[in-house]
Amino acid sequence: MKMLLIYPPQWNPANPYLSVPLLAGQLKRAGYDVRARDINVEFFNYILTSEHIEKCFNAARDTEKALGEYIARTYPEPEKAFDSLPVSEKTKLLKFKLINEYFSKSFKEGSLISKKIDDAVSVLRSKERFYDPEQLFDAKKTVQEALKIASLPFRPNELIWDNYFANSLMKMDWVNIDSQCKDPSVNMFIDWFYEKASEISEEELDFIGISVPDLSQMIPAFTLARILKEKTSAHIQIGGNYITQNKKDFLNHPEIFGEYVDSLATGDGEKSVIETAEFISGKRSIEDVHGIIAKREDGSLIVGKEPERFRMSEICRPCFDGYDFSLYFSPETVLPVQLGKGCYWGKCSFCDYYYGQQCFDIKKPEAACDELEYYKNTYGIKHFMFIDEAVPPVYYDLLSKELIKRDLGIYFYSFARLEKEFTPEVLSNMYKAGARILLWGYECHSERIMEMMNKGIDTKLRLDIMRQSHEAGIWNNALFIIGYPTETDEEIEDTLNVIKNNRDIINSCTPSNFSLKKNALIMKTIGKDGVLSYETNGEFYTVYKDKIVGTDQQQRREIRRQFHLDLIREYSNCLWPVVYSDFDSTLLYMAKYGLDYTMNYRSDRDICLMFR
Ligand code: SF4
Repeated sequence: MKMLLIYPPQWNPANPYLSVPLLAGQLKRAGYDVRARDINVEFFNYILTSEHIEKCFNAARDTEKALGEYIARTYPEPEKAFDSLPVSEKTKLLKFKLINEYFSKSFKEGSLISKKIDDAVSVLRSKERFYDPEQLFDAKKTVQEALKIASLPFRPNELIWDNYFANSLMKMDWVNIDSQCKDPSVNMFIDWFYEKASEISEEELDFIGISVPDLSQMIPAFTLARILKEKTSAHIQIGGNYITQNKKDFLNHPEIFGEYVDSLATGDGEKSVIETAEFISGKRSIEDVHGIIAKREDGSLIVGKEPERFRMSEICRPCFDGYDFSLYFSPETVLPVQLGKGCYWGKCSFCDYYYGQQCFDIKKPEAACDELEYYKNTYGIKHFMFIDEAVPPVYYDLLSKELIKRDLGIYFYSFARLEKEFTPEVLSNMYKAGARILLWGYECHSERIMEMMNKGIDTKLRLDIMRQSHEAGIWNNALFIIGYPTETDEEIEDTLNVIKNNRDIINSCTPSNFSLKKNALIMKTIGKDGVLSYETNGEFYTVYKDKIVGTDQQQRREIRRQFHLDLIREYSNCLWPVVYSDFDSTLLYMAKYGLDYTMNYRSDRDICLMFR
């Protein structure tokens, strides 16, 4: 039996993602013939070329001309007509407006991008030029503009480096997803996916699994699944965290089965992917596959039991065999590594990260070191991201001591909770072991709100811990939330001031607006604690439109936008905050140059302003 696991667009293509190699590792150990393939990075390689960008630029000009003529003929006053039109017509008007705006502002610069893109891509991969900040940011700017051009013919849908935006005129309901999966005027993936599906069909596969951890992959993944259903006879399955988060809504759409997929997989997949393989090879009934959703011949749905609990020690190492690391847009690979499952705290009211993961468990530090050592010796990789949402400080201390003992010479970054057990000694050990960035959940200044969030940390120690981390040589990134229910304007201002006034120790920050997530604990408190009510943004959107006591969604967005812009203006010639969501690049800079250089680098140009 032959199996293929696919990682679809859209995802940041700088480095590989873990889900597909992780499942491939389990299947290989169980004796299955399986291959993992990152179609996301292949797609970025396809579009980020001189030839493709020139083609899209010209196609957008033709579309602008044709639509301009159509609109002039059909809608003498398009603004007035807009509200009364069906979505398909509104989409045409919006497409024309967006293309027209782009060409009005950026025609000349845009026409040069196809000549610059090949060199820009080579900078991102060059072991010398990547580490020259001036060349790096020119290259990033060129790539950003190239992606705008690649998206132009398909607007209002848009692909950017780290996201994919569906048509904003449509809610994320199945009917709209279905229409965007089939519409070549907004879906940039269809033609290329047909080519890939023809290639894949020659492999005569029995099973194709597609991993979908995030909303940005929903439309591309279902587009691909539908084409693969048409072109191959393999069992097509889509699984992943995003499918798990939306399980109840998928159950309302049996029409997905047959046209798009044969089954969906929910919950942790490490064991159930093997059960699925056993089902495909006739050794198990589909009803006995944990986490599966499929359709019977009579049209009713099979809903597998929740996946079984397992321990990290039962899971084997992910398998990156066959991965071509040179396809990624980075001079050195930053490999994702999972130390554990779930969150050892797991009680923050706003969070849904741990949803679908049944328990907290973590690998033995020696086993984690063995894995890192294997990657270093096998693939020559020495930069890692630990993808865990939270790792206990005591574990980090043990892991660090083991890494120091083995003298592996690696670098890593990770999320962390601001816990008092991150003492100067632990942080210093972590630095010696290779920690270069910590992404701290600062959340907000107000103790009152922190208590409502149930963050479970001593709020008074937070800045001290970050100072000690800074003194150890580690880059501190603070994640914080604006506009938690009942939070006052003054309380929000206090948080923003902490970030602004502690630039000596907070090197970067990740601000986010409070969002009411479908599967967060706070959903149990609707009607109290300041959450009045909510509406959906579409069935498959995991964040609700909330109505809360305090700052409303629109205001929250505006505060965040303004805060972001102020920082960009104020620090426009620093590496930060340009790189503040690009921790892979920051890790590479930290590993090469250290904290002083990375935080104090100043350009003669306003490099941050280039990224507004
Ligand atoms: S916010 Fe972080 S610490 Fe809190 S529950 Fe979520 S993952 Fe755990």
